[in-house]
Amino acid sequence: MATLFTKIIQREIPADIVYEDDHVVAFRDIAPQAPTHIVIVPRSEIPGVAELPAFSVEADHVHLLNAAKHIAEQEGLTGGYRLVINQGEDGGQTVPHLHLHLLGGRPLSWPPG
Ligand code: 5GP
Repeated sequence: MATLFTKIIQREIPADIVYEDDHVVAFRDIAPQAPTHIVIVPRSEIPGVAELPAFSVEADHVHLLNAAKHIAEQEGLTGGYRLVINQGEDGGQTVPHLHLHLLGGRPLSWPPG
């Protein structure tokens, strides 16, 4: 069964898509935690970081980072930003489809909760 994010990628569920290429789709988070909060998702339905192939130099995580850098520039986040991947239950992951959060537009505190 398709994940929630695959349904967004396939336009079955509406979302504010801000970027897409052959590998990833990025859209604004429905519950933003910062003025800019974008979720970047690989088109492939890999559940999370734990399922990434070992020691791969050309895989979904590379495409996610490349897209994040591009989108941060597109969004004008010149003051900086934060990239977050929640992995598994303890990591706070709620959607089992690998995704990278891009957060910016305000100073972000550390450590996260
Ligand atoms: P996670 O908690 O798995 O790291 O992140 C999932 C993110 O997806 C959350 O920040 C949540 O707000 C966002 N989200 C959940 N459902 C939807 C939706 O239907 N549309 C959009 N745009 N974001 C969603």
